[in-house]
Amino acid sequence: MGEAYGQLMSKMKEIETVGQIQGLLGWDQEVMMPPKAGPLRAEQLAWLSRTSHSMMVDTSMGESLVAAEAEGTDDEVAAGNLRLIRDAYDKATKKPADFVERFARHKSKSIVSWAEAREKNDFSIFRDDLAEMIELNRELAGYLGYEDNPYDALLDIYESGLCVAQVDPLFAGLREALVPLISAVGKCTTPDMNWVESNHWREEAQAQLSHGISAAVGFDFEAGRRDKSTHPFCGGSNPDDVRWTTRYDEAEPFGSLYGSLHETGHGLYEQGRPRNLDFQPAGHADGLGVHESQSRLWENQVGRSLAFSEWAIPHWSKHFPENMQGVTGEMLWRSVNMVEPSLIRVEADEATYNIHIMIRYEIEKQLINGELGIDDLPDAWDDMYEQYLGIRSPDRKQGVLQDIHWSMGAFGYFPTYTLGNLYSAQLLAAARADLEGEETLEEMWLRGEFSPLLDWMRTNVHGRGSILTPAELIEEATGQPPTPEPFIAYLRDKIKSLYDITA
Ligand code: ZN
Repeated sequence: MGEAYGQLMSKMKEIETVGQIQGLLGWDQEVMMPPKAGPLRAEQLAWLSRTSHSMMVDTSMGESLVAAEAEGTDDEVAAGNLRLIRDAYDKATKKPADFVERFARHKSKSIVSWAEAREKNDFSIFRDDLAEMIELNRELAGYLGYEDNPYDALLDIYESGLCVAQVDPLFAGLREALVPLISAVGKCTTPDMNWVESNHWREEAQAQLSHGISAAVGFDFEAGRRDKSTHPFCGGSNPDDVRWTTRYDEAEPFGSLYGSLHETGHGLYEQGRPRNLDFQPAGHADGLGVHESQSRLWENQVGRSLAFSEWAIPHWSKHFPENMQGVTGEMLWRSVNMVEPSLIRVEADEATYNIHIMIRYEIEKQLINGELGIDDLPDAWDDMYEQYLGIRSPDRKQGVLQDIHWSMGAFGYFPTYTLGNLYSAQLLAAARADLEGEETLEEMWLRGEFSPLLDWMRTNVHGRGSILTPAELIEEATGQPPTPEPFIAYLRDKIKSLYDITA
């Protein structure tokens, strides 16, 4: 590589180092920090953000970038780095400073009014701030630029290259297949949850169970940690220091275990990043959708399979000997897979979850394009829930006011959750085609052998960093561009084996 490229990469190393420190302080804030330390911690984090932002928008950065681009390259890593730095530089410099400040100020204000509106179950408290937030996002789309649809510019913030033309057919395919499937399940009897509800689930035992299972699927606790926090997340600073968290409810054990498997999936991805690309943008994980594919893979496709449930029973019995008496792998599997339409996204099951996301995607698209007015929003929300899930919220709190995202100005974020589900099924199908010969993956999982699948992900996903765009990565790993078909097939098979239906 040329001289300008070398200079550019050493600037990026500085920015990356600041990011690693931010990751550690952010983790500390959520997990360890004493309550009084909040205000000064906010100062520290703000200083780090300002510092890395000013390094990014500095004229010398722009000059190095242009010079490195002019040198040209036929190396895929260097090409990936240049693409990612150009994207980050453009996103950081296209927004006028006064806009960034207005946006940040409005965000603080509207998070407060959203929380109050939700608390009081009154949309009118949030109405004006949300209307302004939509305006600010339209303005943002204008600065970032787009070809067909202003919403494209917002989607691209969270998953590079994503646009309405790509997402529309994915959601249309999902909607067509899932809506009838879910309504057929609604007519079936629900599994017996008595063994769960009638028992007490000690926090310490839940922690040991999650820890053991996370280690068994391959999380390296010599290069990471598990802790407790109010909002579960996976953070830390680099592949040698990956920190995930979970929360506990002593009335039921699934939230913490499956939350742990989810964060473990994120953590495995971080631990598997290509180490020859430390401090380089191309060495990072490839966007939110692909990240979510790894968490959903271990949480749902593996963790909620019958084989996994059967393998896990001795672990459960070790930590909860009394509660687990008479509980079989099949009972456990049925209990962790209950499909039931509900109003709240974060509590939704694997099948209905994507309908919650599809509804938000359709609404965001219409709000940003001016096809849906702010005063029609709350009822439009309820109407879509009725149309697609057959249920209607009795109030605003369980309807349009349930998510924090819009108050924070995050339009275009939701679709990455569903992309994660689609990618995970597509990747698992490709891994099966490569790995299954004598034996199925389920037969390996029954024996607790998770490394063939993890190694496949290491080679085809984790180790590829973000050298390619997310859509290119999926195509390279699976042989086809992102498609909803493998996910639909997976869900259809699973629901048929759980419930007696012929949909
Ligand atoms: Zn996640």
